[in-house]
Amino acid sequence: MNRRDWIGLCSAWMLAGRKKISAQTTGAGGAQSSQDLPLREYVPKSMLQVHETHVARARFPLIDFHTHITGVRGNSREPVLRFGIEPEKCLAVMNRKNIKTMVDLTGGYGSALREAIQKLPEAHPGRFIVFTEPAWPFASDPDYAKRQADLIQDAHKAGAKGIKVLKTLGLFLRETSNHKLVRLDDPRFDPMWETAGALKMPIAIHTSDPLAFFLPIDRYNERWEELHAHPDWSFYGKDFPSNKELQEERLTVMKRHPRTQFVCLHVAEAEDLGFVSQCLDQHPNMNVDIAARIGELGRQPRAARKFFDKYQDRVVFGTDASGGTATPQQTFGDAMYEIYYRFLETEDEYFDYAPAPVPPQGRWRISGIGLPETILRKVYQGNASRLLGLSA
Ligand SMILES: [Zn+2]
Repeated sequence: MNRRDWIGLCSAWMLAGRKKISAQTTGAGGAQSSQDLPLREYVPKSMLQVHETHVARARFPLIDFHTHITGVRGNSREPVLRFGIEPEKCLAVMNRKNIKTMVDLTGGYGSALREAIQKLPEAHPGRFIVFTEPAWPFASDPDYAKRQADLIQDAHKAGAKGIKVLKTLGLFLRETSNHKLVRLDDPRFDPMWETAGALKMPIAIHTSDPLAFFLPIDRYNERWEELHAHPDWSFYGKDFPSNKELQEERLTVMKRHPRTQFVCLHVAEAEDLGFVSQCLDQHPNMNVDIAARIGELGRQPRAARKFFDKYQDRVVFGTDASGGTATPQQTFGDAMYEIYYRFLETEDEYFDYAPAPVPPQGRWRISGIGLPETILRKVYQGNASRLLGLSA
């Protein structure tokens, strides 16, 4: 048979095969499948028979570097603290799950911060750490740069161990005069980044969001359901900067402040580990946490495993735990932690990344990466301890 005959024969087989498939879907047995099924009603059950490991307790004591036990209400210059999770409830879960310390990132500033410190680390030494936040309502004031640096000094004196920068910076914070978005690398923040470095307070910084949040919410968007559940998470159109611009601005800041340690939250950009690797290679003061992104890491388990191997001294454990139930992947409790432990400690395949009937961030499942003991110890505690200046 010559090449042309062979190709002809192959196309004939393919055509025959395709006819058979369309006969099956439209034939008598396919009556059900020809009806439209609303996506919200589609809850398929996996028939895959695979090993299931129940990891009730972390193998080693850990620090959860990324939680929201408290938050501040409103956007006033005098923030009011509110508790999303009660400290007693935290402690019960922490003891069951082998969590040594929880870092409450959103402690606000001023009197709210002092209240958070009093009710968390001061009331329960060693179990909680509180971070402060920039005073955004003052950001357009002429004396903001100095005031912010002073506030960081005060927060440090009060007992705050680091600074949390929400995605507010880059996506929401606007000038009061002309309503223009304030850039992440705006020089008015330089004294804040520098003061943090001088006081050895790490910056936990959330910049940008999943790539699909910057795309139209249409049939091609892999987070269609998530964006319908949280329409305010869409940064498509309007005057929003692109993900690339936001990432570039953050890189500029890290480069400009080499003495300051940055923990880029949510793996910096969990969907592009190649890009994150490049950034880590070029910025020795950059670290990452894995909060709310095991759904991303676990759907690329081989790349993720290599990433943990290569950057084992710069990845910290975090969950984004909060008291709410609108984002099941973050809902504080036993079920959430067990999934993180299963992902990091086992090689189980194809399991849910969140305790929810439908995967809330996108319809896929994840596989574990079975980290060896040495890496697991660093990710669970060693790296965070170093960044927070704790004795191991
Ligand atoms: Zn968070």
